[in-house]
Amino acid sequence: MANALETKLSNAKDVARKFLVEEITEPRVGEYLGFAVEGENVATHKFKCVDKAYVGWNWAVTIAIAEKASEVTVSEILLLPGEGAILASSWIPWEQRVEPGDIGIGDVLPTAPDDIRLVPGYTGVDDLFDEKLTPAGWEVGLGRFRVLSVPGKDETAIRWHEGDRGPRAAIAEAVTDKCVSCGFYVAISGSLGQSFGVCTNKFAADDAKVVSIDHGCGGHSEIVVDLHSIPTGGMVFDDNNLDTTPVSDEEVVVEEVSEIEEEDDDDDTEVEDLGLSTDVIDESELDDEEEDED
Ligand code: SF4
Repeated sequence: MANALETKLSNAKDVARKFLVEEITEPRVGEYLGFAVEGENVATHKFKCVDKAYVGWNWAVTIAIAEKASEVTVSEILLLPGEGAILASSWIPWEQRVEPGDIGIGDVLPTAPDDIRLVPGYTGVDDLFDEKLTPAGWEVGLGRFRVLSVPGKDETAIRWHEGDRGPRAAIAEAVTDKCVSCGFYVAISGSLGQSFGVCTNKFAADDAKVVSIDHGCGGHSEIVVDLHSIPTGGMVFDDNNLDTTPVSDEEVVVEEVSEIEEEDDDDDTEVEDLGLSTDVIDESELDDEEEDED
């Protein structure tokens, strides 16, 4: 059963609303939502927030009353999320938010000491100071404090195989020739080399990248194409994009005269080539012959 102070706090709904309207302005204060006791002599009245920027949020006006006091006082007002309020996502530690490929230029990402992708390498590093390491030594982990673990290799193999350079990549499914038989495929060392290598074809989209043996592309070294079977179109002459050079009327006349002279020369050549005498085509003689007949 509510005591006298709680009753005073509960009845102070109008006091809470009046203060809220003075602080927030009337248009942003909506309907009354209820009352809750927060503790001894303290309670909160809630009103709907009708601000378009805070859909689903509610105003909370916390009031208090002292022993033997007749008036309540307002302690604070604030916005609280209600049903349908847009809230920020829950906090996720940064190390859980980092995704593959996130490390950019200048970024530093320390690897956790207990990262399951790594296991201790050769622990007797001091013994190696007098000996020069060889590539074979590096390969088995000599001189490195940690090397790739079996789970690390499994995780890597699955990621590579299911990625853009695995057998299910669109570029690989479009061809029948696979990397395993390509001369540009260079296997990597270690156990991962059983399934993965590096593409060295400078014309391929995957040049210098790790590809699986069942990946493939149209740049396969042994692909043979019958060039004669490739249909080709005739020469296309685009007369909409001609380069033009302005010429004067005099130049046009000179050009035309030159062409006419060339044509005349050609006609002479034809007559000579035919072995005809110029007498044969003497028109004055033809006219005389016609008059005699008349
Ligand atoms: S050229 Fe194509 S087929 Fe050859 S290794 Fe590279 S990706 Fe594989």
